[in-house]
Amino acid sequence: YDDRDGKIWMDDQLVDWRDANVHILTHALHYASSVFEGERLYDGKIFLSRKHSERLLKSGEMMDMPIPYTVDEIEAAKRAVVEANGLTNAYVRVVAWRGAGEDMGVSSARNPVRMAVAAWAWGDYYGDAKMQGAKLDIAKWKRPSPETIPTAAKAAGLYMICTMSKHAAEAKGCSDALFMDYRGYVAEATGANVFFVKDGEVHTPLPDAILNGLTRQTVIGMLKDRGIAVHERHIMPEELEGFEQCWLTGSAAEVTPVGQIGEHTFEVGALTREIAESYEKLVRS
Ligand code: PMP
Repeated sequence: YDDRDGKIWMDDQLVDWRDANVHILTHALHYASSVFEGERLYDGKIFLSRKHSERLLKSGEMMDMPIPYTVDEIEAAKRAVVEANGLTNAYVRVVAWRGAGEDMGVSSARNPVRMAVAAWAWGDYYGDAKMQGAKLDIAKWKRPSPETIPTAAKAAGLYMICTMSKHAAEAKGCSDALFMDYRGYVAEATGANVFFVKDGEVHTPLPDAILNGLTRQTVIGMLKDRGIAVHERHIMPEELEGFEQCWLTGSAAEVTPVGQIGEHTFEVGALTREIAESYEKLVRS
């Protein structure tokens, strides 16, 4: 991704894609002092753009890493990147991190907080699974307790076990991994929330140790508007075999049907298809 044409917004300036570099003694590279957002631009408009910018600022606050930009400034940076690269449908990545500076120990209080915005074309996150249903492995690692790490922050440190679990899943021919949490409840995938359907009702993990995704919240609203019961609750892994349908939600993943988790198979049913199609319409409306 580093060697291509285009512009990236970095610390208040548009720079050439190839020049958007950081120093090797960047604090974030050593200690994960980094927060980010993944967003999608549809027909020239970023879906829930301000909500993503607000979440970025909140993630920074949770990490004791105040980001030196306002929501309006972040919005302007995103618009500048989209325009400079001539994009109408794209993925947008905003990242803020502690740079190189006064300290190279764990403390970063005297290192500058920096921010960058990049955008590029990115098709379906799970490729063909979008239609056929993704196959998920069950992760060996557990989502940590909110007493261990700020689980509501979209922070780089929370993704270390995501990458490890995704690699293990890919080695088994799966698209992704589903995590249980530190208590053993069904949690989330490595970059998406999970929903299940049984007897016409929907069940999804309580967001008490996972990211309460913006897509998750949108989809819950869509289901409730249709008069469909949504149970946000603790789900045991033993319950997986009783569920009929399953899908993942995320800004990148959108609504992706799941066909299999470990040994359990799910049909890509009518409700899954309806929600996936309605989400697609909503983001472009
Ligand atoms: N959980 C994790 C771990 C994620 O990385 C994401 C993607 N940001 C989500 C859930 C879904 O969040 P959103 O719908 O806000 O993109």
